[in-house]
Amino acid sequence: MSFPDRWDDGTDRSSPAHQVHWYDDRTAIIRQSLRTNFEGPFLYLLLGTTRALLLDTGTGEPGLPGLIHSLRGDRELIVAHSHGHGDHVGGDGGFDRVVGRTAEEVAEYFRIDWPRGTGAIDLGERVVDVIPIPGHQGADIALYDRNTRLLLTGDTLYPGRLYVKDWPAYRESVARLGEFVAAGNPVEWVLGAHIEMTATPGKDYAMGADRHPGEHVLQLGPSVLAELVGVLADAGEQPVRIERDDFIVFPV
Ligand SMILES: [Zn+2]
Ligand SMILES: [Zn+2]
Repeated sequence: MSFPDRWDDGTDRSSPAHQVHWYDDRTAIIRQSLRTNFEGPFLYLLLGTTRALLLDTGTGEPGLPGLIHSLRGDRELIVAHSHGHGDHVGGDGGFDRVVGRTAEEVAEYFRIDWPRGTGAIDLGERVVDVIPIPGHQGADIALYDRNTRLLLTGDTLYPGRLYVKDWPAYRESVARLGEFVAAGNPVEWVLGAHIEMTATPGKDYAMGADRHPGEHVLQLGPSVLAELVGVLADAGEQPVRIERDDFIVFPV
């Protein structure tokens, strides 16, 4: 299991459109380079013995379908989304089987009693739990991989500005994530969909920055999730901006 010391922000013209890093031999972390889009989203490909799950399709860079098909081997491919924003669903058109973008479609596909229930998908000797976490957008999910204990949190928690559209829903969702972990699902790393913090604690890049010199690392320890749970519990019912070392809660 490994992460790069630092991600290439992908602003160099020679950078590939997608950077692939294998966390282990069945877990690929894919970064869409900043030179293609300032969002520089992270995508995740989880391989089981029979099926492959791609979480997010980025902004729609043309090379993605070919890349994914070369990585999945002969496994059946399922494409799902951390949530329905354009920088995570833009490449859907290149794939045949895509889980719908609305909360209703996500709930139906994963058989979730939305938003308080959870679902699960078996990729073949690899079961991934699906946890509804609306608040940032509305159809947001987290994925918990029981094998690696990675928790994929989309735009709900990552080293950057956590844009909150629905404050009560976001607080409830983060609290439920905390309860899910406490209920016997330990987390090795929390992995989100962007990096917007610099390596300097509490300091983010300007909005829309198309270069990220000296980025924060992607991975967050489980203590950062606990920190987010705590600050949101303390924040109360009125939306409030909260600046911490590794994230900024940002009501919109
Ligand atoms: Zn988003
Ligand atoms: Zn995003």
